[in-house]
Amino acid sequence: MILDILKKYFAIFPGKKNINGSNSDREGADDLNLLRNLIDRANDSIEVLDPETGRFLYVNERGCRDLGYRREELLKLTIFDVDPSVDPSLLTQMTEEVSAKDSKIWEGIHLRKDGSTFPVEVNIKMAAISRKYLIAVARNITARKQDAEALKRSEQKYRDIFNYAPVGIYQSTLEGRFLTVNDQLVRILGYDSVDELLQKNMAGDIYFNPGEREFFITHYDPNVPVHNMEVRWKRKDGTPFWIELSSHAVKDSQNHVLFFEDFVRDITLRRQAEDETKKERKLLRTLIDHLPYPIYFKDREARKIIANLADVENIGCANEAEALGKTDIELFEGEIGHRGYADDQKVLESGLPILNREEVFSDKNTGLQRWLLTSKIPLFDETGKTNGLVGIGRDITYRKKAEEQIQKLTKSVEQSPSSIIITDVSGSIEYVNPKFLEITGYNKEDIVGKNPRILKSGKMSDEVYRQLWETIVSGNTWKGELVNRKKNGELYWEWVTVTSIKDEAGQITNFIAIKEDISARKQMEAELIKAKEKAEESDRLKSAFLANMSHEILTPLNSIIGFSELLQDNDFDDQQKKEFLSHVIDNGNSLLSIVSDIMDISKIESRQIELRKTPVSVNQFLSRLIERSEFLPEKKDLRIRIDINSEDCIIITDKERLNQVFNNLISNAVKFTDQGYIQIGYRNEGDIVTFYVKDTGIGIPEEFHEIIFERFRQIETEKNRKYGGNGLGLAIAGSLVEMMGGKIWLDSSPGKGSVFYFSIPCNPVTDDNLQDRKS
Ligand code: ADP
Repeated sequence: MILDILKKYFAIFPGKKNINGSNSDREGADDLNLLRNLIDRANDSIEVLDPETGRFLYVNERGCRDLGYRREELLKLTIFDVDPSVDPSLLTQMTEEVSAKDSKIWEGIHLRKDGSTFPVEVNIKMAAISRKYLIAVARNITARKQDAEALKRSEQKYRDIFNYAPVGIYQSTLEGRFLTVNDQLVRILGYDSVDELLQKNMAGDIYFNPGEREFFITHYDPNVPVHNMEVRWKRKDGTPFWIELSSHAVKDSQNHVLFFEDFVRDITLRRQAEDETKKERKLLRTLIDHLPYPIYFKDREARKIIANLADVENIGCANEAEALGKTDIELFEGEIGHRGYADDQKVLESGLPILNREEVFSDKNTGLQRWLLTSKIPLFDETGKTNGLVGIGRDITYRKKAEEQIQKLTKSVEQSPSSIIITDVSGSIEYVNPKFLEITGYNKEDIVGKNPRILKSGKMSDEVYRQLWETIVSGNTWKGELVNRKKNGELYWEWVTVTSIKDEAGQITNFIAIKEDISARKQMEAELIKAKEKAEESDRLKSAFLANMSHEILTPLNSIIGFSELLQDNDFDDQQKKEFLSHVIDNGNSLLSIVSDIMDISKIESRQIELRKTPVSVNQFLSRLIERSEFLPEKKDLRIRIDINSEDCIIITDKERLNQVFNNLISNAVKFTDQGYIQIGYRNEGDIVTFYVKDTGIGIPEEFHEIIFERFRQIETEKNRKYGGNGLGLAIAGSLVEMMGGKIWLDSSPGKGSVFYFSIPCNPVTDDNLQDRKS
């Protein structure tokens, strides 16, 4: 029955006619099976309904599956149970109004047994066999619905993108007419509305340079999917600006361009930033190039990627290009290159900088040695890995040379044989060299910070110091001799040069004194002067002596000759001749004495005198001495006294020479004493005996006490002249005392008489001098 209905239903479908047209039973049965199969396997749910009640009369397998019921269950239900959207009136309407040719299609909802729903498209048709039936074909349109939904969503998305994208989007024809434009493009171009912009032509109104659009169209390569370019457009007000354009063509199946769909980004700011960056880079580059320091950048492999002018010059390349891409090994010969490269590696590997490394190398152009103070600083990429380094060098050749110079100067100052003091402008000592310390005996700590007046001896006049100071503060050099005082108080002479040190502005910053110890020279000078004076003096004395001698010798000689001649004259009687003879003898003796004094002096000078030492009893010696009458001329009112110890003193000495000393002293005493007494005596003082000869004569002023012992010295006063003498007596006495190992001195003042003392060693009797005695 149902099959009949279905047969009826499907008969309306073209291509199913053969099924309908078969009459044979077998064929009919086959057809039926075929039909059932077909219906059961159909992809749609096929339902036969009672139009009056809406009950299911038949549901194919697909229908059962879709609704989740077994067929028997479904056959107990109505269409309203599974499709609430079906209006019962529809069924009535269908039954009444719709012919078999008409079908009604709507979209409804089917309710599954488990309560879930799914959308369906229902095609309902009326079939009338014995009665009317409704045949509904319900297609599950879940997937279609979903697709439609997805499409809708995707369309919405596209619309959203189109409208809200931060880029301008438009479609345009080959001729440059806008098809669509989005709001962003309107904004970018400065128009008021989409409609306003749609009226514009691309070539004339949008491109700043219309030729560019033409060029793009004529050179358009359809094989390139997207064309990216940066061009200049103009805004509504005519101002040009840069945009980035991504253009792709939408084509038909023949690959003809239908229209362009383009994306536009305003890159004015980026271009500006780029321009700024370029400008900045150029500025930086100019700066780097013109800095006097070599500056370079190297990549991860330590190859040069930037080298400024100073660096290029430093390497000795003709230009930067020659240096780029090379490592230090390729740029510098030998050890220098290897060391530089090793340093680069170290910085790149460790990520730590090398700072202020002194490098020495020879200048490629001049061949001269140069020093560079180099710092290498690592550069890092975003991940923190070293990807290169920057190097900055400073040519310190000048500084090095200056340092060397300073070192040399310092050494020469330190090792200078002159002592050197450096003070500040106020005169406070900042530096002294070792020679200064050696000479003065001060320590550095004693002297630094002090004023050089610490050395003042007080022997120089204040005027000298005033002049010195005046000269140096006016920027001039003072030179002169100063007597200074050492730490131990000793005085020393210096030849001093003091000058000022000035800064570049000509301001005095320091004073420097260079001093030479001239004490030795000064002493030598003094000695020379003394020697010269002495020579002159002795010259003078010798002249005086000769004059004296001529007088002393000529006088007795003349007397001798004169009286001798008189002796030949017979006019004189014997008495007279006797007198003449005594004059001849006296003058002869006087002559003898002078000659013997001169002989003694010359013997002493030529050290021809030898002492013949014997034990001498002092008491006895002195007693005999005063017994000699020749000392006391009768005309004088003089007494001679002796002062001896009760206990005798025996000394070992040359008696003859002792006698000679006494002779000279006593004869002087007698000569220069007119009245009073002369006393001789001695004191035994342990190892030495001090003898004295005292007189009550004219005395000797103190200033003559030393010089009267010099040869040919006589006190040149009127008073003294009358006494005569040759000025040799004391010189001989002094020399003889000295030879005997003693010394001579006196105590005298004018009018009070004189005491001449001389002391000689006792030389007590020993085996040695006993030997002397025997010989
Ligand atoms: P002269 O032969 O002139 O005495 P001397 O060398 O013995 O030479 O003495 C040098 C000088 O010293 C004397 O000329 C004299 O002026 C002074 N003189 C020496 N002895 C005495 C004395 N006892 N009293 C005063 N003057 C003396």
